[in-house]
Amino acid sequence: MLFGKSSAIFFHNAVVLNADGIIGESLRIENGKFAALDAAPRKNDFVVDCRGGLLAPGLINAHEHLGVNNFGRLKYRDVYPNAHAWSLDIEARFETDPKITAPRAVPIADRLFIGGIKNLLAGATTVCHHDPWHSSLNANFPVRVARPFGYCHSLQRGGDVRKSFRATPRGAAWIIHLAEGTDDASARELDQLDALGCLEKNTGIVHGVGLTPRQREKIIARGAGLIWCPSSNFFLLNKTANVSDLARAGLLALGTDSRLTGDGDIWDELRAANQTQQLTPRELFGLVTTHAARILRVKKLGALEMGAPADLILLPAPRGDPFAALVQTRRSDLQMVMLGGKPRLGDLAMQELFAARGVEFARVRVDGAAKLLDAHIARRLKRNRVGEAGVKLD
Ligand SMILES: [Zn+2]
Repeated sequence: MLFGKSSAIFFHNAVVLNADGIIGESLRIENGKFAALDAAPRKNDFVVDCRGGLLAPGLINAHEHLGVNNFGRLKYRDVYPNAHAWSLDIEARFETDPKITAPRAVPIADRLFIGGIKNLLAGATTVCHHDPWHSSLNANFPVRVARPFGYCHSLQRGGDVRKSFRATPRGAAWIIHLAEGTDDASARELDQLDALGCLEKNTGIVHGVGLTPRQREKIIARGAGLIWCPSSNFFLLNKTANVSDLARAGLLALGTDSRLTGDGDIWDELRAANQTQQLTPRELFGLVTTHAARILRVKKLGALEMGAPADLILLPAPRGDPFAALVQTRRSDLQMVMLGGKPRLGDLAMQELFAARGVEFARVRVDGAAKLLDAHIARRLKRNRVGEAGVKLD
């Protein structure tokens, strides 16, 4: 790496990947934004040799409950007919089961921070948080939290559904858990939502396991979207949604849900999605990039588009099809995670990049792999009242 004085960064010797495919081999970033593709570096650019690595947009996790990622997976029956039954089981033990009371005793800001860390370490640079907003999400949070948007928990919980839909800012997405079950009640929910006047093109339905083919057609006709969380669905319901028609219409995104029901991070979720064999690896990548941006209505994210914020991940050189390599990724494989042109996480080889961008770093271990982490985030993690499993601070 060559040291430069400019705030611009020139990545070369890379496989630059968007949801459509390989788009180039070098990428220039200036003032925190994507500036040029396959152009020559300028005089004072800081140059990063990617050694054939995969340079892709920061991923979008379209469904998450940031504040419950310090919990373990929890259920009290083998298989539930619907998620409402699971919620009642959880509620009944809210004050008595130590698996709930202990993680709940951690202050909310510290719990949310762990949700942010989970996503940052996986390169999910934008997250849709399906719970009340908290001031700690406003600034210095490890990742972007999608805003503005409206949400309602579900038809059963979360109050007046129609009022929530109508109160959503114009042009923003409105998200609801729906048809999270395999029983008749779940199969009726989409029609109930439609009868309430809440199925429009800004509607994002989370789960949709109980949707019928006719209901999926209706979602497509309305231009609404489905946010798929397969690992959470298999854990609770032993079944997940049929998604190929929605994916082909560009109306499908992927979410991890929280660790209360989901497998883990966005890579775990991509693997769970891949195992269902409904979509190709290339289609799966669209779910965490451009299609997610469209459903969440977040502008200029999820694509390496010139002028967009430089949210970026770097992965090792792929052997064969880059999309197939992507779905096999684990968080410790990530060589760099950048937000708005600043590195937040990187391999030890990225030390000069951190220095060139004026980002102080600390050494950490992520699942045994040595990494550099933005020092502000590392210090915050050190004083956090709950840690992140697999992460060791030096
Ligand atoms: Zn959820």
